[in-house]
Amino acid sequence: MAGILYLVPTPIGNLGDLSQRIIDTLGEVDFIAAEDTRVTVKILNHLGLKKPMVSYYRHNTETSGPAILQRLLAGESCALVTDAGTPAISDPGEELVAMCAESGVDVVAIPGPCALVTALAVSGLPTGRFTFEGFLATNKKNRKNHLDSLRQEQRTMIFYEAPHKLLSTLGDLRDAFGADRRISLCRELTKLHEEVRRTTLGAAADWYGENPPKGEFVLVVEGAAPAEAEPLTMEEGVQRVLELYEQGVSMKDASRQAAQETGLNRKELYREAVAAQNE
Ligand code: SAM
Repeated sequence: MAGILYLVPTPIGNLGDLSQRIIDTLGEVDFIAAEDTRVTVKILNHLGLKKPMVSYYRHNTETSGPAILQRLLAGESCALVTDAGTPAISDPGEELVAMCAESGVDVVAIPGPCALVTALAVSGLPTGRFTFEGFLATNKKNRKNHLDSLRQEQRTMIFYEAPHKLLSTLGDLRDAFGADRRISLCRELTKLHEEVRRTTLGAAADWYGENPPKGEFVLVVEGAAPAEAEPLTMEEGVQRVLELYEQGVSMKDASRQAAQETGLNRKELYREAVAAQNE
């Protein structure tokens, strides 16, 4: 019988967040697949555990993934851990879970530390509906497209960001959503210098322009007010379809995406975009 893949979260800063179930699972599995074995060994040492480890990180998923799957299929159980937080959330794991699902291997996700949920909860912004956007691309065009696609977004938006890119990201967010849009900057969560700065995009860009950011950040940004999110005109919608089409998205998929983003009619967008292209 196949073994089980356990997705085991690890602390994002506070070792006290290692739950009993996390500790028991790390102790019971046959082996651990770790993003960085040097980081994970520190947790194992802290817990007084010794366990065989293999590495599973962003650049070896294609070779390491199938090798882990083979061991699972042969009946071994595995705990997947990353450097901090929940595996598969802006961290390695997504492909391995998909492979297990396809091969009929059970996957058990253990609840635990996750920066995005912790930040959302403490943000003071609406939590009823939210969207997790991960890291914005460093490539200018992809970044712009990503932000453009969020202009009408009414749900609270959550971004991850590295401290050295924070300032330029705040500038881009301000330009995309306006200086008055509210943001909660959640820094060093669960750590000694944990801080939540509830402010606006304009004020945040100014503040960090003068006070260089340090530590890890989650950015929780208020969604667009319904009035701001008035549907785009058909002309603007068609523009968006053609923009996506130029990036290599098929006309059909571009129309579908633009319809989702703008609330405009998909068939009409498609028809108008094809006509505009043939002009
Ligand atoms: N899988 C992880 C999780 O569940 O949160 C996220 C890993 S992602 C590679 C790392 C990003 O998470 C950081 O750049 C930062 O945006 C956020 N992050 C991680 N720990 C944090 C902390 N203690 N305080 C604030 N943000 C944190």
